[in-house]
Amino acid sequence: MASTEHARSYEQLEYDTPLYRTAIAQFDQAVPYAQVDDGIAERLRHPERSIIVACPIKLDDGRRVVLPGYRVQHSSVLGPTKGGVRFDPEVTLGECAALAVWMTWKCALLRLPYGGAKGGVRCEPRAMSRGELERLTRRFTSELLPFIGPQEDIPAPDMATNEQTMAWMMDTYSMQRGHAVPEIVTGKPIAVGGSVFRHEATGAGVVMIVARACERMGWKLAEQRCVVQGFGNVGGIAAQELVDRGATVVAVSDVSGGVYDPDGLDIPTLSAFAIEHGSLEAWQTGTRITNEELLELECDILVLAAREDQVRADNASRLNCRLVAEGANGPTSLEADEILRERGIPILPDILTNAGGVTVSYFEWVQDLGRLFWGRDEIRAKLAEKLNDAFDRVWEISHERGIPMRTAALVGGIRDVSSALEARGLYP
Ligand code: NAD
Repeated sequence: MASTEHARSYEQLEYDTPLYRTAIAQFDQAVPYAQVDDGIAERLRHPERSIIVACPIKLDDGRRVVLPGYRVQHSSVLGPTKGGVRFDPEVTLGECAALAVWMTWKCALLRLPYGGAKGGVRCEPRAMSRGELERLTRRFTSELLPFIGPQEDIPAPDMATNEQTMAWMMDTYSMQRGHAVPEIVTGKPIAVGGSVFRHEATGAGVVMIVARACERMGWKLAEQRCVVQGFGNVGGIAAQELVDRGATVVAVSDVSGGVYDPDGLDIPTLSAFAIEHGSLEAWQTGTRITNEELLELECDILVLAAREDQVRADNASRLNCRLVAEGANGPTSLEADEILRERGIPILPDILTNAGGVTVSYFEWVQDLGRLFWGRDEIRAKLAEKLNDAFDRVWEISHERGIPMRTAALVGGIRDVSSALEARGLYP
């Protein structure tokens, strides 16, 4: 059996999910422009290591359940692997693999000394108490102990995980080592070595990229009407940053549906409500709309900040915006990419647009390792510098080669990882 045939069957068996197929198809679209050796391209199609664990936990009513957990480490060529942990009913090995692959290109595009990883536990976090979530986090961390570390793999928050989750992970890891190891995770509370501005970094970064794109396209950000899908960490902060820069946010949504006001929403009040009530479900003011209706609203900029696979072949032709910004990972399917390209609607791709989170995570890790902490203004300025530099490289590749910004961003990331792999050679 030829090695390629062998590899393809392995890939299909272990990771085959729509999201992984999308990640690999995007990679295959970009590889010809990145001028990568075939052997190296083949190596990069496969995550280096995947771990499946079982997490038994005690529920508050005394019952025990066993929840499946995953961690996929795609590439350690440039440094430790880095990536979020999500708690979600749809987490699978294939989903984590796709997200780990994207993290590799994202870190390389931002010139961070990391490779990509992703993990999570398949569970229903909204039905779990704080105590159940803590026990799950600690058991998941214990199961991963041999595979994570400040120089090996550094977790961070993702869907339905937050600063508190990271504090529990840090504490569990530190108790095993016998001393505090803040650099094991990023996105922690500031009290245990977290960084100022990490909480806001992904959403603020989305708007920094949108602002740079507007500048290049000759649009005034303050005149744009925006719609934001997803009102959690990324979407909530992005909506606030848009308003702070003078733009009008006419609609936002979370898993319970959307709120629409053509004159613009009061984002601080909505955010406070969502934090207090856990969602927008009970919000009464303004017009309530479904998530499908929200995606089709007439606007200038549509920010996708909920989750993967939201714009697909069945709804891409009904989007009514002039620019899409991907705050979430993988929100646009391959077919939708093509439909939007034909319709002349540019997409600011996820691996560039939501890279603010991992960039400030990198700043957090550096601060923890050096035990020396920086101020908010310094971090915000360093983040803007990194994101603007990555945006300019993507814009240039896209215009030079006549390719969409997604492919251009992938080319930027893939080229750097491939050069490192080429220089290091094949072990043994
Ligand atoms: P979160 O859990 O804080 O928020 C997710 C939001 O999306 C919630 O408001 C939820 O109700 C909503 N939502 C879920 N399903 C939805 C649906 N079908 N329709 C509409 N809304 C829906 O998570 P987050 O950290 O904001 O992550 C959101 C996305 O951004 C994910 O794709 C994540 O991988 C990505 N991301 C997050 C970070 C980070 O730093 N948190 C960094 C990079 C990328």
